[in-house]
Amino acid sequence: MIVYLNGAYVDRAHATIPVDDRGFLFGDGVYEVTRAVGGQLFEAERHLRRLARGLEGLRIDLPADLDAARLIAISERLLEHNGLVHGDATVYLQITRGVAERRHHFPPSGTPPTVLLGASRLAVPDDVRRTGAAAVTTADLRWLRCDLKTVNLLPNVLAKQQAVEAGAFEAILIRDTVVTEGASSNVFAVVDGVLRTHPATPLILAGITREVVLELAADFVPVALEPIPLAVLFRASEVMITATTADVMPVVTLDGQPVGDGRPGAVARRLHTALRARMARAPAGASAAARPS
Ligand code: PMP
Repeated sequence: MIVYLNGAYVDRAHATIPVDDRGFLFGDGVYEVTRAVGGQLFEAERHLRRLARGLEGLRIDLPADLDAARLIAISERLLEHNGLVHGDATVYLQITRGVAERRHHFPPSGTPPTVLLGASRLAVPDDVRRTGAAAVTTADLRWLRCDLKTVNLLPNVLAKQQAVEAGAFEAILIRDTVVTEGASSNVFAVVDGVLRTHPATPLILAGITREVVLELAADFVPVALEPIPLAVLFRASEVMITATTADVMPVVTLDGQPVGDGRPGAVARRLHTALRARMARAPAGASAAARPS
């Protein structure tokens, strides 16, 4: 596998980052995970807009030549060179504040950010989807800028490990008695016939899959952008999570208790089908147009 690191395409095994990288020392950086289907990036522009918001939030400047068109071109080249032009894949992108002597405040201006992109095969968890996933609930211990997709993921790591140790697929995070999101996903619930999810505030990451699902849902179910109290989650007829690496995943047990009738629900199934259809027909479109010569 080859990756892109700071302007060069290198063998993944030989791609190394100095120990003084601020991503390593402080978690001082942002990342994106973009879906690719059949070698085509899905919703690349939305991912790059979110990346730009994150960079702005952290006050990291990218070199002018690394604009959205260039990042898309690098991603497409990685998909091609790594034999990922068929089936499902992801492109991982990470940008840190670069390499500098360890001190908390920013390094001297002009310190180049570290830029890494890599592509990998995605094993879409369709086997889990057939029967539905288990989830556990746990406290949301994160900071107050969860809208920034930073590599500071320790609370998410601990929550996901708790889920794995309970034999569950995801940990659903609870802040002040309401559901914010999953450790690495957004959470939706069907309550009294209405599809609900937390509004896009600084308390959640506005998932790209969440945004697309909200558009798709508008065609057939009432939608409310309202936080879901934990007690309401437990009486939902359906619960589901969304993420780039999981699509729409029905949750059929919460802390060991069945959700609704304990089987994947109709809203989740319909949303998943619509999402996959949208991915399948996503044309080269903007990304091909943006490809530099
Ligand atoms: N929330 C969190 C905390 C996440 O880590 C993720 C996935 N990276 C999501 C939501 C879902 O975002 P997306 O649909 O863009 O993958």
